[in-house]
Amino acid sequence: MKKALLNVDYTNDFVAVDGALTCGTPGQVLHDYIIQVTKKFYDQGDYVAFLIDQHFENDTFHPESKLFPPHNIDGTEGRKLYGDLDDLYQEIKDSKNVEYFDKTRYSAFAGTNLELKLRERNIDELHIVGVCTDICVLHTAIDAYNKGFKIVVHEKGVASFNQMGHEWALEHFKYTLGAEVI
Ligand code: ZN
Repeated sequence: MKKALLNVDYTNDFVAVDGALTCGTPGQVLHDYIIQVTKKFYDQGDYVAFLIDQHFENDTFHPESKLFPPHNIDGTEGRKLYGDLDDLYQEIKDSKNVEYFDKTRYSAFAGTNLELKLRERNIDELHIVGVCTDICVLHTAIDAYNKGFKIVVHEKGVASFNQMGHEWALEHFKYTLGAEVI
C-alpha cells in the first residue's frame, strides 16, 4: 500500500492562543507529534499534502461566513502554519513529494485536485492529522471513505474546540468509516 500524510489546517487561526477560531490547548499539544509524523513521512519518501483552509476578506458568498468568525484569510498571519510546522514546511516545500493545497471547504477533496494527485501516485492509504477532528478532518475522512481510500487517523495528531465533537468523530472514524485510529 502506498500512503500519504494529509496535514489539515494546522494554522495559527485554528491553533494559536489568539487564533480567530482556535482549538486552544488541545490543538497546541499536537504540535510536536504533527512535526514528528510529518518528518517521518517526508523522510520515508511518502507524499505529504498540506490542505489549508483559504478565505478572503468580506467574502459574503462563502457559506462559512454565516457560521464562523473570519479565519484563515489569505495573506494573513492567521493562515500561516502554526509553530515549527511552518519552518518545516519551508524546508521541505520544494520536494516533489510535498504539496500545498488551498482548501475551499471543510473537505480537502472539495474544489481541489487532491484526488488526482493521489491517484497519479497510486496512493491508497491516507493518514490524517490536523484540526478540527469533527469538522475538516471529519469531512475529509468521509470523502476519502466514499472514494475508497484506506484511512488512518492519528489520535495524537487531531483536536477540536469541541471536546464532545472530537470524541464523537473518533468513534465515527472507527465504527462508521472503518478507519484505523492510532
Ligand atoms: Zn474555513
